[in-house]
Amino acid sequence: MEKHRIAVVGSGPAGLYAADSLVRQDAFDIEVDIIDRIPAPYGLVRYGVAPDHPRIKSVVRSLQRILEHPKVRFLGNINVGTDIEPQLLQDSYAAVIYATGASQDRQLDIEGEDLAGSHSATRFVSWYSGHPDHNDAFDLSARSVAVVGAGNVALDVARILAKTAEELHPTDMPHDVLERLRASHVQDIHIVCRRGPEHAKFTTKELRELLHLADADVIVDPADLPAVLDQGYDATTSENLAAFREMAGTDQTKASRRIIFHFWQKPIRMTGTDTVESIELERTELDQSGNLVGTGHLQSLPVQLVLRSVGYRSLPMDWLPFDEVRGIIPNKAGRVTGPDGSPVHGLYVSGWVKRGPSGIIGTNKVDSSETVATLLSDLDAGGGRPSRSAEEFVEELDKRNVKVVYFDGWQNIDEEEILRGQHAGKDRTKISDWDTLRNVADSAQVLTGERGQQT
Ligand code: NAP
Repeated sequence: MEKHRIAVVGSGPAGLYAADSLVRQDAFDIEVDIIDRIPAPYGLVRYGVAPDHPRIKSVVRSLQRILEHPKVRFLGNINVGTDIEPQLLQDSYAAVIYATGASQDRQLDIEGEDLAGSHSATRFVSWYSGHPDHNDAFDLSARSVAVVGAGNVALDVARILAKTAEELHPTDMPHDVLERLRASHVQDIHIVCRRGPEHAKFTTKELRELLHLADADVIVDPADLPAVLDQGYDATTSENLAAFREMAGTDQTKASRRIIFHFWQKPIRMTGTDTVESIELERTELDQSGNLVGTGHLQSLPVQLVLRSVGYRSLPMDWLPFDEVRGIIPNKAGRVTGPDGSPVHGLYVSGWVKRGPSGIIGTNKVDSSETVATLLSDLDAGGGRPSRSAEEFVEELDKRNVKVVYFDGWQNIDEEEILRGQHAGKDRTKISDWDTLRNVADSAQVLTGERGQQT
């Protein structure tokens, strides 16, 4: 049987499901190297799924089985484009699949957006998830926060800001993150939605969670809810509206924190001398053609922190084509295409970098199957390049002084995080700085002193 070696860049669900499909088919003998910039695998499952959603995070168990497959190898701590030149991958593998996600935030493009205190939700999520790129302390001295956007990420950040230290304690957040959140001054969390509750992209389960917070009220103005109940809405919208109705009908309890929904409001500027002091909102409505338009009615919301949660886009890689408008790598069924629409030989994409930031984790299974089917049909047509052996590729990495973290290195990190968690009476406490991640990966030595502090 013909043997091929394939590289997958990115070890989140899209990359791992692609690897799984590749090693499970029986037309070819395929080995997969999964390359990740970070010494830890699982992408957004580790660094994006909210830490207080352990059930969603438990998908790690099935992702781990993919990494343990004898024909799959994890190569962490390799930054393609910095540590190695992308051409090395093209020269070493029959094909390369990029599954690098969408790590950049979308901008609002309004005045004052660059003031201190205005951040992307992405940055906040990365910080509380212990991402090593964002482990510098997040300033939570604000009393009022605006979260802009009506998607699940906005709900995640609002909920994390609204939860008590006791609610957050069981999560895997790094110790210093938990301490910051414990000392947070935040009282009011304004969720700013540019359209109505019937247009929000929240999923109902996540929305309903807000009704069960230990010490936070949720405020919805009944006047914002559609007057006519049955307007042929889809199931999610109807269930969301029922949840909003429940919120609107619930008395306030003088809880320490409040989540306040503002519908039909679009941010038009942020103001402040050095840091954000307020966000100006314009009332919106739909015109006769269904387009969102401003009404000219303005209000100013005093806030000291703004978290923009208006979607993600992929980071362009200068060696690959990029669709600036959609924020993805252009492709046909996963095969990368050039500016003229013709296929780029041996290059494929999977996940958010292929289709944009949408769907749930499982969506990536279908998505990566499509990419793998495309890749296999190209191999079948004789389109694979000769591959370097597993050892030869490592020799190339050695020549470039790359300190690879293999699966057993990741297991050292995993065990250390579990031990740190046990010290604090929970399942895991994440390590969030590059040096410690690399040092722990490199040796099974236990950093007892540090662990002692991670309670
Ligand atoms: P999203 O669902 O696409 O929501 C983005 C929101 O930003 C929309 O409400 C959009 O409003 C709004 N928006 C866009 N541009 C805006 C602007 N200029 N001004 C004001 N508002 C603006 O994106 P997301 O929340 O980042 O989530 C990304 C994906 O991850 C989604 O598929 C989501 O379901 C998924 N996710 C799932 C979970 C979970 O299942 N627990 C958790 C987190 C994320 P319009 O609708 O008007 O464009």
